[in-house]
Amino acid sequence: MTAIHPIVSPNFDPQPIDVRFLVLHYTAVDLARTLEIFTDPARKVAAHLVVDVDGAIYECVPCWAGVALRGWHAGVSHWHDGLTRWEALNDWSIGVEIVNFNGNIFPFTDAQYRALARVVGHLRGQYPALAQAEAVLSHEQIAGFRGKADPGWCFDWPRFFTMCYPDQPAPVRAPICPPALRAALARLSEVAPANGSRANAFWERVSLLTETAVALAQR
Ligand SMILES: [Zn+2]
Repeated sequence: MTAIHPIVSPNFDPQPIDVRFLVLHYTAVDLARTLEIFTDPARKVAAHLVVDVDGAIYECVPCWAGVALRGWHAGVSHWHDGLTRWEALNDWSIGVEIVNFNGNIFPFTDAQYRALARVVGHLRGQYPALAQAEAVLSHEQIAGFRGKADPGWCFDWPRFFTMCYPDQPAPVRAPICPPALRAALARLSEVAPANGSRANAFWERVSLLTETAVALAQR
């Protein structure tokens, strides 16, 4: 099995966290741009792991070896698990970014689902709370109120849970992006640059616009 690729990022706090959750995101830009952002101290953002379209796994904030430091991926967020209201999920979660220009319109790859199964299989062994399927959250579930809409409509949660937690019922993880906005985003994709720096610039702006529209729709 291929090794994961370590990346040196300044965007995390050195304190270990008590891992209770795994939070899934999409990047809105390609792998190279994602790693550029996650290693830029001015951006103040980094998830623990990044899963590229080919299934390669990059570690930007330590977590793989069994001690997770506090990554900056969830931001202002909260989650009620039926028992406890959790605030500031960076204190309680490992973040996984899946490379995709927009998870509300573009499918994730087979290699990414296989890589996620590997990630979950490994992390379950390190962090006991992750043995429960309920511990896997979407960024939109915990920060949808401020417009976060990832990993989005195209993330196949039933497939993910079947691969990662075949022994448990699959929790419901509903997308937050309104269908009309999703349809409008699909129209935008018809005129988008296919790849390279113009595609990154385009989709990063679309992501901002998506967040703005979703936040307004949540009011
Ligand atoms: Zn996110």
